[in-house]
Amino acid sequence: MNDKLKELADLMFPNVTKTVEDYEKMYPERNLEEGAVVTRFAPSPTGFVHMGSLLTAFEAHKAAKDTNGVFYLRIEDTDQKRSVENGIVGILNDLKNFDIVPDEGMIDEENSIGNYGPYIQSERMEIYHAFAKDLVLRGLAYPCFCNAEELDEIREIQELNKERIGYYGSFAKCRSLSIDEAIAKIKNKEDFVVRLKSPGNFNKKIILNDLARGDIEFPENDLDIVLIKSTDKLPTYHFAHLVDDHLMRTTHIMRGEEWIASFPIHDQLFSIFNFKKPKYAHLGLVMKVDDTGVRRKLSKRKDPEASVEFYHKEGIPIDAVKSYLMTIANSNFEEWQDKNPDSPLADFKYDFKKISISGTLFDVSKLFNISKNYLSKRTAKEIYEELLIWTEEFDQEFYNLLLKYKDYAISIFNIERNIEKPRKDYTSYSSIRNFVFYMFDELFMNPNYEEVKIKDKKERELILNTYYNEYLDLTDKDSWFLKIKEMCDKLGYASNIKEYKKNPENYKGNVSDVTGLIRVSLTSKTNTPDLFNIMELLGKEKIKERFTKYLKSIN
Ligand code: GLU
Repeated sequence: MNDKLKELADLMFPNVTKTVEDYEKMYPERNLEEGAVVTRFAPSPTGFVHMGSLLTAFEAHKAAKDTNGVFYLRIEDTDQKRSVENGIVGILNDLKNFDIVPDEGMIDEENSIGNYGPYIQSERMEIYHAFAKDLVLRGLAYPCFCNAEELDEIREIQELNKERIGYYGSFAKCRSLSIDEAIAKIKNKEDFVVRLKSPGNFNKKIILNDLARGDIEFPENDLDIVLIKSTDKLPTYHFAHLVDDHLMRTTHIMRGEEWIASFPIHDQLFSIFNFKKPKYAHLGLVMKVDDTGVRRKLSKRKDPEASVEFYHKEGIPIDAVKSYLMTIANSNFEEWQDKNPDSPLADFKYDFKKISISGTLFDVSKLFNISKNYLSKRTAKEIYEELLIWTEEFDQEFYNLLLKYKDYAISIFNIERNIEKPRKDYTSYSSIRNFVFYMFDELFMNPNYEEVKIKDKKERELILNTYYNEYLDLTDKDSWFLKIKEMCDKLGYASNIKEYKKNPENYKGNVSDVTGLIRVSLTSKTNTPDLFNIMELLGKEKIKERFTKYLKSIN
């Protein structure tokens, strides 16, 4: 070995004790079945997951699960500006709300599980430095002492001469420093970054076989990119990607499309170390069509649905969200689901070739629709149990009522459920209260009665009193309705709508006006599920109370 290079490398990395070979041994190839996808989610510890990143994590997790592979969580905390307190736990919680639990990686702010750690970059400094030192020893990396002004100067010259911008070739000033000069500067405590001495030729082509996008051609990288930053000696994303994804034996890199342009750098780094190259899938941006019809990137600031907490708070069932995410992840999923309506998501195989790359359109109304369909297929008991979990966290008052009136609540959720076309009004757990509140006296203290067709107050009083005293029959739906019609005939309302339409002037109104009045007085709403079912559950006593309450309110 070149003694001078060794002296330089030792000066640059005085604390490195292990070599690349040592690490190779410490983190051996994983023993997994053929085709197993090892992939990761690699966020900064920002405390939350944005929808775009969640989609990436969801897809990566799915790809790993489908192949009996590994999905791990690596925390990229080399940018201190993006770190917040408890930032990891926040991320884990967001993931957990979508059933995404990493097989390996960080499990809280300090601890991790798995044999390929540390899974947080700030604890991997010695490893990065060992790899960088290896490059210095091989003459493939060098210290660069250029300060901001010098770099600006290079840029200005390049702009003036219409040259490609960047630190490369003859523009890379510190490339040509002699080893002695570099050693002298370090001894002189001059600040430096570590740069790659790129062996690339910009006129040569390389190809990225992107799993989602097909082949993309690039010029080879010839930039002497920074590997290790000066102030804190932290690695750049590029260098950490190489070291971490190699040592963690990642087979598939699934990441945002903003990284496509960096591929030539990454490809070169893997080549220099002669490491097996991972496969790449660059996912599209998550977009939305806003109120004005403009297609734009989903924005953390403007769009509540960009934060994944939204789904949890809103109470959209996890399975519905997952189903929706799969819809936007793989273009063939909806068709598959139509063909296999009762199969679980686990039966669908994630397909890299079906990734939508032109930008993923995020459509909340579609998600609510999926949620609606999903909830319409739940049994009353399932609704009850799931709602109990949601209300415990978000609606204590309703939670207590659900606990207190368990059987009654289940019967309410069962209204129009066990039928061929079950009700489809619930859009999320948070929406349910508004559809059933009137069944609970505790939530019916100050009802906001909707308008009814029959305007005369005396007439309303007459109908409700006559009904309660003479015609109320809850034996079964047929007798119930027969009685109502009987009363209509007696009071001058058409019991037959067709008849009414022919000669409306012969009547005060028709049977639907009468049931409308009964409905509003009992529930305050003009629109409810089956009125007989509601009345059956309320029972005579409560019906009486509700009529009285209503009549009081209108007088
Ligand atoms: N920390 C990077 C990011 O959040 C990770 C990208 C990657 O998955 O490689 O964008």
